[in-house]
Amino acid sequence: MLHLFHGLVGVSEGMDPRLKAHFQSLAHEQNPELLLVACGDSRFEQVLGAQPGQVFVVRCVGNIIAPADQSGHSVGDVSEASAIEYGLEVLGIRDIAVCGHSNCGAMAALLRGRQQLHQSAPNLASWLAHAEPSLERLACSKLSFPAGLAEADRLSQENVLLQLEHVASFQPVKRRAAEVRLHALWFDIGQAMMHLYEADQARFVPLDEAEVLRLLTPGAGDPPTTR
Ligand SMILES: [Zn+2]
Repeated sequence: MLHLFHGLVGVSEGMDPRLKAHFQSLAHEQNPELLLVACGDSRFEQVLGAQPGQVFVVRCVGNIIAPADQSGHSVGDVSEASAIEYGLEVLGIRDIAVCGHSNCGAMAALLRGRQQLHQSAPNLASWLAHAEPSLERLACSKLSFPAGLAEADRLSQENVLLQLEHVASFQPVKRRAAEVRLHALWFDIGQAMMHLYEADQARFVPLDEAEVLRLLTPGAGDPPTTR
């Protein structure tokens, strides 16, 4: 643990002068392009390769967003709901992504049955309820999965799409339905490969150079990332 603190001490001292100047330019404002909802998994650091100031991040167990009720309030976590409101209403973000990943402990717990956690981790057991419909979706899934993809990973991909629907249940997103773009991402840790959901193919495709070029091609349109 101490070496992490040593690293923190060296953050400013050993920083590239260009990055230090970048931080100075950000001292009084931020204009992030993306609101990212990601799992808190420790292996999920730095996968976006983004610069400071580009991504507003919400991290939680299982990249879960508790949905909004009829009144527009979160049924499970006002912190996440606040991040969505702040991101859209104050920061002006118009792109939102939910990113899941392989070998997710939250998905494994769901498969085992979250009821097993009631004694040892009651909050976690309650939290996972917001992802539980993913189990039913997996049972009759319309997604196209790669051969051999583990059950927890298939569940994780279903869960990403479910959580994007939860994001869309909030008023700031509904009000801007015509301008807000929702993206489903999934990161394969072992392959170090990000995937993007393509609705017309009903599958997550590797986000390699060819796919990025295709997305940037005029006429390709916005990534059709939601069902
Ligand atoms: Zn996870």
